[in-house]
Amino acid sequence: MYDLIIIGGGQSALACAYYLRRTGLRYVLLDNQPDCGGAWQHAWDSLTLFSPAEQSSLPGWWMPKSSHPFPTRAEVIDYLCRYEQRYEVPVHRPVDVSAVSRQADRFQVDTNQGRYSARAIISATGTWGKPFIPDVPGRETFEGMQLHSAFYKSAGAFAGQKVLVVGEGNSGAQILAEVSKVATTAWAVRRTPQFLPDDVDGRVLFNVASAKYYAEQRGEPFDAKKFGLGNIVMIPSVLEARSRGVLKATGQIASVNQTGVVWANGKEEEFDVILWCTGFGYATGHLRPLGRQDERGRMPTDGTRSAEVPGLWLVGYGGWTGFASATMIGVGRSAQRTVKEVVQWVGK
Ligand code: FAD
Repeated sequence: MYDLIIIGGGQSALACAYYLRRTGLRYVLLDNQPDCGGAWQHAWDSLTLFSPAEQSSLPGWWMPKSSHPFPTRAEVIDYLCRYEQRYEVPVHRPVDVSAVSRQADRFQVDTNQGRYSARAIISATGTWGKPFIPDVPGRETFEGMQLHSAFYKSAGAFAGQKVLVVGEGNSGAQILAEVSKVATTAWAVRRTPQFLPDDVDGRVLFNVASAKYYAEQRGEPFDAKKFGLGNIVMIPSVLEARSRGVLKATGQIASVNQTGVVWANGKEEEFDVILWCTGFGYATGHLRPLGRQDERGRMPTDGTRSAEVPGLWLVGYGGWTGFASATMIGVGRSAQRTVKEVVQWVGK
């Protein structure tokens, strides 16, 4: 019986663990991965942070400087693993949580390694486990290969093929940039891709997001149009793709057929591969026994605290549960506030 169980072992769970160190609470992290690093273990090989190391740190310990402008995926994983060791974070892995339910004054946590119980739960399971693909008519009839960006590793596998990249966000732009070097590509979008100015990176975005947040707290208007927070960051690979002229959106797809797609203008085109860079829902399936969720996996919350289930918090799910909490620099604030609330609640 623990005071608190944190479900997940990525950057959000580690930020919570940092603030738990001196609370005296008996707690454990349950993570279903064989190794440390959370979702970064599954990201594509060339993925980097949007900001330099000093703007990308978890609470307490700066990420070591990188020899690249932005830390690489391998450097982020190394940092997260060393962070876990440094603060002696108690993690049980691999432990997959299948269901959390309420039993009198405690939660019952069912896993593939047996049953745990705790007085409070923080769910910090991220989004990577819930890839989202839109319901485009005919999608199931396509005879070529379909892959979500969650499973994309590198461009090599697509050499010489004709590839349709779907999605106008950062994932779509970054994957298009590298696949277009080895394959013939087209880019399907729902709206015109919005590129940030070349000199705007994660630092600027975080500062703008903070300014917007504080203006909202004060009830003041804030014009964030200049830097749309979901817009494409011009990292070096994307800049290079622009110079090759491949960052041109073809249009919207109306449907998929056996051999390719039908564009919104009625024209048909054949493809070998469709790469869906269409985002994620929330990996919260394990919380379903506790109450209703929408189609993306969200349940009612007040900040990070569940609005309907006393003793349950949700940390690191981005705009849903905490301002900028899907980033390393942003999740610290959310984690600190959550741990304060948990300590108060368990202390009752
Ligand atoms: P995760 O890292 O997903 O960790 C959750 C952990 O919980 C995982 O290990 C998962 O396997 C485990 N888990 C899930 N379900 C269960 C279960 N039922 N039982 C047990 N364990 C479970 N972030 C930044 O900070 N800076 C950036 O510059 C940045 N750039 C990005 C660029 C792109 C293109 C993308 C796609 C993402 C970027 N991110 C960036 C975001 C970052 O990758 C994720 O937001 C981050 O990994 C979320 O951390 P987390 O700890 O909340 O979730």
